[in-house]
Parts: sequence; structure tokens; C-alpha cells
Amino acid sequence: MTVKTGQGWRCVYCNNEAFYHRKYSGETLCRKHLIESIDKKVYREVRKHLREDSRVGLAVSGGKDSLVTAHSVNKLRRRFPKMELTGLIVDEGIEGYRLESMEKAEKELSRLGIRRTTFSFKENFSTTVDEVVGLGSTLMPCTVCGVLRRRAINIMAEEAGLEVVLSGHNADDQAQTIFLNVIQGNVKNLTQVVEVEGFVERIKPLRDVLEKEVVLYALISDIDYHSDPCPYTRRALRNDVRNFLVSLEESHPGSTYSIIRAAEKIREGMKTQPRM
Ligand code: SF4
Repeated sequence: MTVKTGQGWRCVYCNNEAFYHRKYSGETLCRKHLIESIDKKVYREVRKHLREDSRVGLAVSGGKDSLVTAHSVNKLRRRFPKMELTGLIVDEGIEGYRLESMEKAEKELSRLGIRRTTFSFKENFSTTVDEVVGLGSTLMPCTVCGVLRRRAINIMAEEAGLEVVLSGHNADDQAQTIFLNVIQGNVKNLTQVVEVEGFVERIKPLRDVLEKEVVLYALISDIDYHSDPCPYTRRALRNDVRNFLVSLEESHPGSTYSIIRAAEKIREGMKTQPRM
């Protein structure tokens, strides 16, 4: 973490003591301007997709990303009072993990005055992630969880009449997904935007925000998020990719964005590729 305090560094915007050195841009920022710069990124992304009176769902797990998204997007309600926000909380049935994170989600959404709805795998799909793993399925837990969770959020969004769902994926998540697609030879996902018909539109307001900056946003805003990792994370290849990309960004600032932009360019290039 590149937090700098008490070293005489100054915020480039207000000359107050700097709190954070954003290595990839060279900026030094105080707490206020770090938060403002992240809110601006969120606002820019959200405005591309939303009207001022949109009915918006927030997929909230109780982790830092989804709760920072909720806090940041909630500020937009001052500007767009007609915008409706609904928190969507999913209980996948992961013992020793999900109940704790749901409590944090409930607590923070109620602090923000955002209404919420919950969906249980057990009640709606008659099974849980723990049960699928216990049956000795050859599928990775995250594969099962991801597919069912996406379905659950869509069901909740349709029932609540929502037009769009915001999720807390940050820039690190995007870069990890690109790397995973390379490692797994998933050329289709790497080169095309895969849109599934019948699913409510999904937006990632933190897509341009590094994970470490999400952590700092949560810290500065006093957000009580669930930080324990899911017990199945260790089994995921994504975890190794994550660790590799974090150290790459640390020694080569800007790498995360370069990976994301490279994938975007590949997708753009594929659209314009002449067919023989
Ligand atoms: Fe689901 Fe995997 Fe995330 Fe755990 S780590 S919540 S199993 S997707």
C-alpha cells in the first residue's frame, strides 16, 4: 500500500498534507481529494448508462467493493433525487462466511437509507454452494456460485422492476478476468463482449478504480465491510492471478490499466476485422 503520511508531501489539488501517492499518475492526494477523484470515476461510469430517474439495483455482498459502490452511488441521490436504489443481497449458503457478510451489507445499507431485498439459494434453488461442494462435484465452487448468483440477481432485479444492476468489480478484477481468459484459452470471452439475452444490464462503476484505492475509500469513509475471504477463494486460480497482478502493479505502476486497455483494443479490433 503506498500511503504516505507525515513526510511533507502535499496534495496536488489543495496543498494539504498528502495521504496517498497514486503512482500510476504521479499525483499525491489528501483524503478528501482521493475520495472525490474516485467518486468522479464512479459518476462518469454511471452517467453513461443511467437516467436521472432510473430504478437501480446494487448487488451487495458486504465486501469492500460492493459497499464502496453503494456509498459512492448513494451520493448521486442528492443530485438525482428521483433515482431509486435497491440493495440486492444473495445468500449462497457458505457457512462461516456469508451470514457475517450479509450482516455487514444490511448494516451499511440501512446506514445509507437504501432499501434491500435478499435471495437464498436454499429457498429458491433447493441447494447451497456448500452442499454442491459436499456432493463432490467436479465443478469448481466459484463456477457453480457465479452462475447461480448471476441468475439470482437477475430474478431479484426483474421482480423489483429494476432497469440496471451495479456490481462492485474494480480495475484489478477486470485485469484478473482478462488474464484468466488468456490462461484458460477462453478466446471468445477475451475478444468479444459476451451479452446474455434476458439478463438485466450490468454496470461496474468501479471498473477504473484500483483495488487498493477501494480499500482506502472504505477506510476513510469508515465503512464497516466484511474482510474475511470466502473459504473457497483459495481453490480459485483467480487468487494466484490476483497476487501476481498486485506485485506487477506495485513494481510497474499502470500495468493493470494497460492490461484492461489492451483487451479493449483487441475487442475493438475484432469488430472491424474484415471477413475473408
Ligand atoms: Fe462464490 Fe467463489 Fe466468491 Fe466464494 S469466492 S463467494 S464460492 S464466487
